[in-house]
Amino acid sequence: MSYDSNNIFAKILRGEIPSKKIYEDDYALAFYDLYPKAPVHALVIPKGEYMDVVDFGLHADATSAKGFWQAVAKVAAELGISENGFRLISNCRVHGGQEVPHFHVHLLGGQQMGPMIAH
Ligand code: AMP
Repeated sequence: MSYDSNNIFAKILRGEIPSKKIYEDDYALAFYDLYPKAPVHALVIPKGEYMDVVDFGLHADATSAKGFWQAVAKVAAELGISENGFRLISNCRVHGGQEVPHFHVHLLGGQQMGPMIAH
């Protein structure tokens, strides 16, 4: 499988479709999820073309990986969810229920998020 540059997040990165931007630097873009699942629901994506967390973990160079995770921390601080905490999720491939094949993390917070998995 290879990276599909027609995915929605690639289009957001290219500015072809709009997003509600929270933060941007050389390594990452953060924007609000279109269908929020919590009072605060942000997505952070790397600027490089990685399909999922496995691809990112294996292939991103150290500078890009550090830049991405620092952006995640900055976004959490900017959204005011660092102190009380938040849930960070990355859905991966079929069993993870990943819908958009560009690596991203969800930051969910603004309330107590409850059990990790609904029963
Ligand atoms: P997943 O790939 O399963 O981790 O989820 C993809 C997420 O992207 C979902 O939570 C969607 O609500 C969200 N989403 C889909 N299209 C957009 C968009 N154009 N702007 C912001 N969020 C989106």
